[in-house]
Amino acid sequence: MSAEYQQRAALLVPARHGRAVLLHKGEAVQVINSHGTQVVDCWAYNAADVTEYMSMEATRVWNQRLNPKTGDSFITNQRHPILTLVEDTSPGVHDTFMAACDARRYALLGCTEPHRNCHDNLFEAMAALGVSLPHGNLASFNIFMNIQVQPDGITLKTLPVVTRAGDYIILRAEMDCYVAFSACPQDIVSIQGAGDNTPRDAELRILTGNFPTPQLAGPWVPAR
Ligand SMILES: [Zn+2]
Repeated sequence: MSAEYQQRAALLVPARHGRAVLLHKGEAVQVINSHGTQVVDCWAYNAADVTEYMSMEATRVWNQRLNPKTGDSFITNQRHPILTLVEDTSPGVHDTFMAACDARRYALLGCTEPHRNCHDNLFEAMAALGVSLPHGNLASFNIFMNIQVQPDGITLKTLPVVTRAGDYIILRAEMDCYVAFSACPQDIVSIQGAGDNTPRDAELRILTGNFPTPQLAGPWVPAR
C-alpha cells in the first residue's frame, strides 16, 4: 500500500539511535515499525523558530483525548497545529504521557554505565541537521508505546507494544518543521514487544503526495 505514496526520501532509524527530518508544510513522514516491536519517540519543532515545539499538554487540550486518533493534530506550545495524524495502520495504541528516557532515568533504573537514551538521541539527531536546541524536552509523542489507563481512571500501566511488523503511522506537516525520532533504547522496562525487550530499527519515509489529507480539525470548544 505504501508503494502508492509519492516519496522523496527513505531513512533508517537504527535501534537505540535517533534521526531527524525537515518537512515542508503539506509533506508527511511515514513511521514504520519494521519489526513490530519498537517504541519510537517523536518531537517536532517549527523550522523557523525552534522555541516553538510540539506540546503533549496543548495537544490533549485541543483533541480532548489522552492519545491521538487518525485526524487529530499535534499542537505547539504556541497552540498552532504542527503535525496531523493522517493514517494509522497499527491498533492505534500510542502514548502522550510518559517522559522520554534520559541518562538520569537509566541511573534510577540501576545502570552504572552510560546507557543510550531518547533524550540524547533528540539532540544528536537535530545536531546532524545543524540545529542546536535551546533546552531539553522530555515530553515526546511516544509512537506505538502502550501505556494503559487502569479502570480506576488514574493509575497507568506500562505494557509492551501491540503492533505488528510493518504497521505504520503517517504524520502530515502543518508548518515547515523539524521532526525528530528515536528508536527507544529502553531494554530494562518491558516496553518493546515480542518478549525479549530488544530495541530494533524503525524506518522513515518522507512523503510528498498520495497520502490521506483529512481537513484540519479546530480546537475543542465547549458547547454553550
Ligand atoms: Zn526512550
